Amino acid sequence: MKFELLQLEEDRIRFLLSGVTPAFANGIRRACMSEVPVLAIDDISLYDNTSVLFDEQISLRLGEVPIKAESLDVFSLPEECACGGTGCPGCRVDFMLSSEGPGMVYSKDIQFADAGVKPAFDKIPLAVLGEGEKVVIEGYATKHVGKEHTKWQAGTLCGYKNELAIKVAESCDGCGKCVEVCPRNILALEGGRAKATNILECSQCKLCIGACEPGAITVTPIKDSFVLSIESCGSLPAKELVGKAAEEILKRAEDLDAKLSELA
Ligand code: SF4
Ligand code: SF4
Ligand SMILES: [Zn+2]
Repeated sequence: MKFELLQLEEDRIRFLLSGVTPAFANGIRRACMSEVPVLAIDDISLYDNTSVLFDEQISLRLGEVPIKAESLDVFSLPEECACGGTGCPGCRVDFMLSSEGPGMVYSKDIQFADAGVKPAFDKIPLAVLGEGEKVVIEGYATKHVGKEHTKWQAGTLCGYKNELAIKVAESCDGCGKCVEVCPRNILALEGGRAKATNILECSQCKLCIGACEPGAITVTPIKDSFVLSIESCGSLPAKELVGKAAEEILKRAEDLDAKLSELA
């Protein structure tokens, strides 16, 4: 397997994986979305809500706020916690939200009992409060995975596509029509002929193929090479998210191996 980093930012990563199957590339993508545990608000008690929003709307908005933890590993999944899932500081973190209008209630107003836990973004709007309106809410966040509910989905926009090979026939006369129609500036004229340059940015729209004689330009997916684009919801740095996704896949493979060994 070959790995090549194409882009790395705090909340997104793009890389090339070669020598793998489509199932493997898709496995990484799916694990980023549904198998990496993060914190999300799980349960709330509304003591007061005189805003124009229904209790359920506020509850839904709170659940979708991405949460960051200095150390996510100190929290257990409720079903794996020593408390047996009844709830304790090892598997949940309490919060309080108390705000009075006029003004906007933002995600930064959620105050967690653990100083190492906070919303991943400060300015997510939760509710507009008019003069004298207020919300008073208590609740707790737990750690789970995206396949339980999208509010625990650590990876948001996660996708992959085949790397492409673009070939131009020897008969090219350099008329430049394919260069003109390409919306991503992939093709350029060089030495009197069309040449593909930044192939990883090709969207496979095939407009270039239609601009020339049939068969003169070919855009072919390379079967075992993929460009993966992974975006984190903000709870984890994108690099860490992919690492944890790979760990989850490895855990399952080892699990299967151990079960097969028991049969021997
Ligand atoms: S349209 Fe065809 S002939 Fe013209 S530059 Fe492109 S490949 Fe060459
Ligand atoms: S397939 Fe589309 S994006 Fe790719 S080189 Fe051809 S025209 Fe450009
Ligand atoms: Zn517990």
